[in-house]
Amino acid sequence: MSLEKWVYVDGDYCKKEEAKVSVFDHGYLYGDGIFEGIRFYNGRVFKLDEHIERLYMSAKAIFMEIPMTKQEMIDALLETIRRNNLRDGYIRLVVSRGKGDLGLSPTKCPKPFVLIIADSITLYPNEMYEKGMKVITASTRRNNPLSIDPQVKSLNYMNNILAKIEANRVGVPEAIMLNNSGYVAECTGDNIFIVKDGIVYTPPIHVGVLDGITRKTAMYICEKMGIEVYEKEFTLYNVYNADECFLTGTAAEAIAVTEADERIIGNGRPGPITKRILEAFRDIVKNEGTDIY
Ligand code: PMP
Repeated sequence: MSLEKWVYVDGDYCKKEEAKVSVFDHGYLYGDGIFEGIRFYNGRVFKLDEHIERLYMSAKAIFMEIPMTKQEMIDALLETIRRNNLRDGYIRLVVSRGKGDLGLSPTKCPKPFVLIIADSITLYPNEMYEKGMKVITASTRRNNPLSIDPQVKSLNYMNNILAKIEANRVGVPEAIMLNNSGYVAECTGDNIFIVKDGIVYTPPIHVGVLDGITRKTAMYICEKMGIEVYEKEFTLYNVYNADECFLTGTAAEAIAVTEADERIIGNGRPGPITKRILEAFRDIVKNEGTDIY
């Protein structure tokens, strides 16, 4: 078994050390491109079709034609995992506008460039899943959907990065981002949920959030468990006074927020609904997904 790590680079499989991108790629020059973060567990890729669908929807929104069919993309992604002999891990699938000149017009970029990296990821330590995390609210607002719709999973994460820097500067791992009207939107790399009186709420997509695949799974879990769940606008007041708060994301899965802007949420420990959702989520990912081998 080879210990070499392989990356899919524009139609070829290259050794990790030899994988290269052109300095004229507009993904690099302008953040012009899109991506997906995908998890695989126990030899199965979780929600693969949903991630591929979202990738192609992002592409359509930014007027990019991915030079592969969805099935070719799926095949390349599965083959990348197989070449790395992995059963559990994380995929970063990137499609940039490709090589062009120094002008920003994509008309000079004849072909989008596809990269597939399979690796491992640990976003937060285990202890944080048991104790919950602290967050702050960033002063940086989430992108206005009238400029760059946060539904587009674009390579331009500057908005989220600035909010992440605010969080890092005060020693917390995540930041709540508001939209331009002051409603809670999402976090820098996760969707947000609150629980009040046994009912679960998450901001609707039109507030300006990524249509998270884990968000959808969490809502599905609630429905299956008979827990009421609504997409509803809310403010920080509702976060501070929630019984529970949690974040969802492919890398984060579901994680409790126990303090926001120095207000303790609920009793300061991960709540029962959050715990049930995380448990159900971990059960689903173990048993569902596209077979890799
Ligand atoms: N919001 C943002 C801004 C994200 O980047 C992500 C993905 N990391 C999410 C939410 C969660 O989406 P998903 O559950 O599809 O990973």
